[in-house]
Amino acid sequence: MSTPREPVSGGRPLNPGDGDQSAHSAAAVTTWCHWHKGETTTGLLITVIEQASGPGAAVYACEGCRQIYRLEPA
Ligand SMILES: [Zn+2]
Repeated sequence: MSTPREPVSGGRPLNPGDGDQSAHSAAAVTTWCHWHKGETTTGLLITVIEQASGPGAAVYACEGCRQIYRLEPA
């Protein structure tokens, strides 16, 4: 007599019914565009303005303003 061996049932991840799938990136990092004076998600650091006291102020420009003003990221 041969005893049938039960296959190990794998490949069933234990999900506690969590159907919340965030496909898109939840938190889009926004920076302040100093050229059009508004927040942007395509901002890149252009330059750092050195101030008299304290650390320099980082100046960001969005993609559109970089093309318009021909700005180059630092
Ligand atoms: Zn801009």
